[in-house]
Amino acid sequence: MQTFVTEAVDWPDNAAALREQVRALVAEHGERDPVRRANSWTKADPEFSRRLGDAGLLGMTWPKEYGGHERSQLERYVVIEELLAAGAPVGAHWIADRQSGPLLLRLGNEELKRRWVPAITRGEAFACIGLSEPNSGSDLASVRTAARRDGDEWVLDGQKVWTTGAHVSHFMIALVRTEAGSERQQGLSQLVVPMDAPGVSVKPIIDLTGAHEFNEVFFDNVRLPANALLGVEGEGWRQATAELSLERSGPERYLSSMVLFLELVRHARTENDPALVALVGRLAAEAWTLRLMSASVAAKLARGEDPALEATIVKDLGNSYEQAIPQLVQAAVDFGAADTEVLRSVCFYLLQVSPSFSLRGGTREIVKGIIARGLGLR
Ligand SMILES: Cc1cc2nc3c(=O)[nH]c(=O)nc-3n(C[C@H](O)[C@H](O)[C@H](O)COP(=O)(O)OP(=O)(O)OC[C@H]3O[C@@H](n4cnc5c(N)ncnc54)[C@H](O)[C@@H]3O)c2cc1C
Repeated sequence: MQTFVTEAVDWPDNAAALREQVRALVAEHGERDPVRRANSWTKADPEFSRRLGDAGLLGMTWPKEYGGHERSQLERYVVIEELLAAGAPVGAHWIADRQSGPLLLRLGNEELKRRWVPAITRGEAFACIGLSEPNSGSDLASVRTAARRDGDEWVLDGQKVWTTGAHVSHFMIALVRTEAGSERQQGLSQLVVPMDAPGVSVKPIIDLTGAHEFNEVFFDNVRLPANALLGVEGEGWRQATAELSLERSGPERYLSSMVLFLELVRHARTENDPALVALVGRLAAEAWTLRLMSASVAAKLARGEDPALEATIVKDLGNSYEQAIPQLVQAAVDFGAADTEVLRSVCFYLLQVSPSFSLRGGTREIVKGIIARGLGLR
């Protein structure tokens, strides 16, 4: 049976300087609207992404040959933690920088790497994740979108759903069935699909706050060159589940409501309310613990280990934390009092969107099943 070991993290010597660099950039170019600063890793601002690219803060750990900066995983951690805590609008490049770029570098052929990776590091190419389909969410092995070979080309037909950022993305990494008649995990592959390819169409899904963050994506006779295949034909299941480890392990899984916590701290300073002080203390202590756990996962990733179990536990605990913050703030704060407009609008926004925090990247039930398996319980 595996156990969760949280280790002390050896932060890089230049961590303080990196934090200053990010803070200065956010102060000058970051989002001003407090509501848009909450859950900011879904808020797309292509101009801000390009500024991060100019500052060398995208593709930080990737090889210089492909436009990267060959910095450490922990230096990258410091940067993304600062960006998230400040509520910077990082949504445009988030998926490309977190998982599509690493996947392309690990599995992509030379043409795919040259076409997409340098552009990601400049903040000029954004990506979306093509896993979920109608009736294939938690049960991902039932995907039906299919690609067949026609001479030198793939011909792709089908539909994806809940595709975050498809409307601002330049390419999708899609999990599709490439072996006709195959079932479940067999016969799946990953294809890199340019979003401007003829036959790709994107239909917005508007969420209950009125925002357009995710979409339906349709493929109608989309013709792709043979080299659109990412990795090995038929290995799509193994590749996609490895991708999910990258998707689940970052600090975004507990920092989505951090902007509200910081607003609460600001508010508590002006009130003489022991209940608010106690809430700040509780949330700070939990944030501290989650941060240690999350950074410990990053340190293991940096050493080339695969802390999939620990990452999944951090996602589950982190989602509970970021969902609890708006509920606790709502219960503790008197919104009828003066000067609570900002706190209230951020809190009410998060009350509406936070139920989705434990759906995206795998639902709570699925995540709990993975943890149980990792602990040898099933
Ligand atoms: C904000 C947001 C962004 C997203 N972005 C993307 C994206 O960019 N790309 C992408 O591909 N997908 C994306 N998704 C989709 C997300 O991955 C799915 O919603 C999720 O995997 C659940 O799938 P589903 O919606 O089909 O629900 P279902 O799989 O139908 O699940 C419904 C309920 O049943 C439970 N359930 C299902 N199976 C089991 C089981 N075996 N045991 C116990 N309980 C079970 C689930 O936990 C859930 O509570 C996003 C979702 C959200 C909310």
